[in-house]
Amino acid sequence: MKFFFPDSQDQIDPSFDFETEGRTRLRLRHREDLYAHEAFSKAPFDGVLVSKAVLQAGRYSLAQKQRMMRSGVREFFRISDPNLLTMGDCGAFAYVREEKPPYSVEEVVDYYQAMGFDFGMSVDHIIFGYDPTETRVNPDWHDRQELTTSLAKDFMREHLRSGSRFTPIGVAQGWSPRSYAHAVQELQNIGYTYIALGGMVGLRTRDILTCLSAIREILRAGVRLHILGVTRLDSMQDFADLGVASIDSTSPLRQAFKDERDNYHTEDRTYTAIRVPQVDANPQLLRKIKSGKVNQGEARRLERNCLLRLNEFERGECSVSQALEAILDYEALYSVGRSFENAYREVLADTPWKRCPCDICKSIGIHAIVFRGAERNRRRGFHNLYIFYQKLQAKRVPQPALITALEQEEVATA
Ligand SMILES: [Zn+2]
Repeated sequence: MKFFFPDSQDQIDPSFDFETEGRTRLRLRHREDLYAHEAFSKAPFDGVLVSKAVLQAGRYSLAQKQRMMRSGVREFFRISDPNLLTMGDCGAFAYVREEKPPYSVEEVVDYYQAMGFDFGMSVDHIIFGYDPTETRVNPDWHDRQELTTSLAKDFMREHLRSGSRFTPIGVAQGWSPRSYAHAVQELQNIGYTYIALGGMVGLRTRDILTCLSAIREILRAGVRLHILGVTRLDSMQDFADLGVASIDSTSPLRQAFKDERDNYHTEDRTYTAIRVPQVDANPQLLRKIKSGKVNQGEARRLERNCLLRLNEFERGECSVSQALEAILDYEALYSVGRSFENAYREVLADTPWKRCPCDICKSIGIHAIVFRGAERNRRRGFHNLYIFYQKLQAKRVPQPALITALEQEEVATA
């Protein structure tokens, strides 16, 4: 099973000083900040998935976009490892509310080719809905499936016409096991040998497995599947048995700072990261300061004290209870809900970052478990990617070779 990381410019600043929280002045974000694959001696994924929507959404400047089109995806993302694959998609989530995808097939094929992607996904339109009984099917779902299939047909034609070198992936959208199987069948008829299943992010694992079983009935030998946005570690072997060759997901990264509790992953469990919010960036705290309930100077003192104690704890200069006391004193000031006391005591007693062999934990130590600002939170997300990849590999799910552009060329010229 290959794992692709959807990169939406989740970069870290290597000049960030965790003691002073200062940065090198005049920082050049794109040139100096590190992508996830650059933060490790070996990337914790098999490939990078880049959405056209991310590039269009304006997170890159016009100059950056132009440079990207000139230099290609590998140079722009500074991917030097030839084994790290690149996959492009349209980022259908970005236009899910629109009537039609905002890109033409020609434009997308041209973009994948110019960027030098290894794989490019056909233009698709997500169906938001699942009804295995087929009794509540929205007419819009049919329209979107037909549109997605017809765009895949045009995409394949344009790919052949333009002599593009990337491997085309046809996207299947559906709302039930039967409808997914129907979409995959159509894509096979068009000639696709690599097919991505969209719209499965919100499905329960057993529903995904039911869909895969239905697809399996019609899946031709040699046709590989990719599931978009789904990582269910416990089912990887089942996925592989049903023809899935690759997956992608930002979930390990996002859990680091979006999840209520499961922020720091390890081989056998998850931990809650220790919240030390910045006084100036915490809405609850700012509200309390504004209304006079909390003294700003006191808040800053408790915030600083937390960081100081955590640094001391890391050096073995204070105990779990001393560090915890500082954290809880500060928590009492900003928290509106329940306390994380037990979770914090547990993570401080276990010190899981000290056992983690990943490049992030080795370099920043206890800061990997501190929930505070993008530099720490994103690094913890990178650590989670590392753990996810280790777990995936430990499952020893077979790694089918994905058809590369080079192989395809050999087939074409044979
Ligand atoms: Zn780590």
